[in-house]
Amino acid sequence: VIEKGMPEWSAVTTCAYCGVGCSFIAEMKGEDVVRMVPYKAGKANRGHSCVKGRFAYGYAIHKDRILRPMVREKITDPWREVTWEEAFRHVANEFRRIQYQYGRSAVGGITSSRCTNEETYLVQKLVRQGFRNNNVDTCARVCHSPTGYGLKTTFGTSAGTQDFDSVEQADVVMVIGANPTDGHPVFASRLKKRLRQGAKLIVLDPRRIDLVRSPHVEAAFHLPLKPGTNAAVLNALAHVIVSEGLFDEAFIRERCDWDEFQDWAQFVLEPENSPEAVEQVSGVPAETIRGAARLYATGGNAAIYYGLGVTEHSQGSTTVMAIANLAMATGNIGRPGVGVNPLRGQNNVQGSCDMGSFPHELPGYRHISEDATRAIYEALWGVKLDDEPGLRIPNMLDAALEGSFKGLYIQGEDILQSDPNTRHVADGLAAMECVVVHDLFLNETANYAHVFLPGSTFLEKDGTFTNAERRINRVRKVMEPKNGYADWEVTQKLAQSLGLDWNYAHPSEIMAEIAATTPSFAGVSYELLDREGSVQWPCNEKAPTGTPVMHVGGFVRGKGKFIRTAYVATDEKTGPRFPLLLTTGRVLSQYNVGAQTRRTANVVWHEEDRLEIHPFDAENRGIRDGDWVKLASRAGETTLRAKITERVAPGVVYTTFHHPATQANVVTTEYSDWATNCPEYKVTAVQVTPSNGP
Ligand code: SF4
Repeated sequence: VIEKGMPEWSAVTTCAYCGVGCSFIAEMKGEDVVRMVPYKAGKANRGHSCVKGRFAYGYAIHKDRILRPMVREKITDPWREVTWEEAFRHVANEFRRIQYQYGRSAVGGITSSRCTNEETYLVQKLVRQGFRNNNVDTCARVCHSPTGYGLKTTFGTSAGTQDFDSVEQADVVMVIGANPTDGHPVFASRLKKRLRQGAKLIVLDPRRIDLVRSPHVEAAFHLPLKPGTNAAVLNALAHVIVSEGLFDEAFIRERCDWDEFQDWAQFVLEPENSPEAVEQVSGVPAETIRGAARLYATGGNAAIYYGLGVTEHSQGSTTVMAIANLAMATGNIGRPGVGVNPLRGQNNVQGSCDMGSFPHELPGYRHISEDATRAIYEALWGVKLDDEPGLRIPNMLDAALEGSFKGLYIQGEDILQSDPNTRHVADGLAAMECVVVHDLFLNETANYAHVFLPGSTFLEKDGTFTNAERRINRVRKVMEPKNGYADWEVTQKLAQSLGLDWNYAHPSEIMAEIAATTPSFAGVSYELLDREGSVQWPCNEKAPTGTPVMHVGGFVRGKGKFIRTAYVATDEKTGPRFPLLLTTGRVLSQYNVGAQTRRTANVVWHEEDRLEIHPFDAENRGIRDGDWVKLASRAGETTLRAKITERVAPGVVYTTFHHPATQANVVTTEYSDWATNCPEYKVTAVQVTPSNGP
């Protein structure tokens, strides 16, 4: 695709799977991509990739893609193909009717972390300017919303502190609730390289993940905590650091509020936070907690990387703040080799949150109640904005069941399969009068849709994704949209059908609007991205080529804030009926609910989700390796095959959720993070019994 005279970067695009954000050159044959070649100059991947990214083009050309818009009156009717114009007119008429009949707040929109920054920005703009409410949410709700809350509260900004290069200067790495080998393979390779060079590793995970012991890598400490006890263990680590005087007093006095630190120190020294007390709660031996705390506090540059095993809990936000407390107490913030780094699951979780797709925040994490921020958008968009937060995804579904929410535009997200409590989602969707699904395939949510708008793949559009290190990477169109319109154009057409005066000729113009209104993006432009390859926000007058490491010399919020992070046990309890705890994760070759990877060559590398169970629990139940088992919880049940392994401890079972046949979220609970409603996917009380199969 690189023709003579063209700069190499003109064919470089970004993987649309995980938050590493690998750069690729897409090689073409005729109209279609036939090979994805990792780009050597890509700053996130430096010429590496994993098996997902290499074969991602497969779903772009898959026969299952829906390429024509479809409409139906009732969800039991057959689909009817219509023209794009008819589809846009129908949606506009329906949403206007619903708002006239039920009120302005009866409609909303959901965007996805798979979408570009520009697309996400347009969806929240459509909701705020077009629907005139704040009922916009994103699938980051169900993964990293606690990261947003926790890091904003403690440090002042909702993002990881480091670039990936930083790991090369870490002496100690603590991995909490993440399995980089499977979830973030290219970053995992860099991490393992650093470990092979001698950096020490601490792993907090209920499961013995690959990093704990793999060729040439062995964790100094593995803390196999009981699911749901992250906050307790982190408080115990802090207890050791404070009680043994291992904290960095000079850093704390200079960069944080000393009185707040003292208050926090008093809290962590309380007896229930001692290693012995926490051993009773978490199952992690007190001496292991002590050893890990000493290593983290005294081993040199110490960096923390964490994943959904931290956030998807009823104490997700608490746990993120407990991690921030540890980093501040030991002075491990504000230079290369240290920091607090969320490993983002989806390609654009970071960007999706940055772009204001939460019901309480405008782009750049500015609260909707801030008069000065609203005034910027009111002047630009010519409407008065609501100063009250809108509805989150679960609240939209609740409101639908109560009869006050009737219309929903869902871009790039299969909420029926990926959100918890599938029955609740299905009932909520069924209670609506106009559900619009804008996606590549007829997904599970589309079973409840009245309008289907075909989506475009990352290969068919221009835009940007922001990866886990805040790096804004270009997505470049290498093939024409097979459905006729890139996703940003579809949202623009919808807006125009609603009477809005939108006339973007190219996503670069959307980015120009983002830059003009969002201080952390003020310096970002497509010209800059073409020149630099990529930049990490904040990118503005003070940092014209971006910011690899944040909080250097001072926290974004001023003084770093210590928070008391009391451990509160989840309401999801085991008992005689449901004696085991289920936790979930991913495999290397698959991506989330598998809608894309199951339509690529990757399908053959993971044919089914299996339930990992400890030999002790399996034997007690008469289960042999490979047997069918029934997995039941208070919410529902499903059937899958057992895999007997000591990777999980007795009392804990584990599965992946890549296949719709498994429907793991049928069993997950209704509990969620107290601050953000992020579902508690990682802790479900279950029973496992032999079964004859589905
Ligand atoms: Fe890179 Fe992640 Fe894509 Fe793999 S899935 S190629 S690690 S961005």
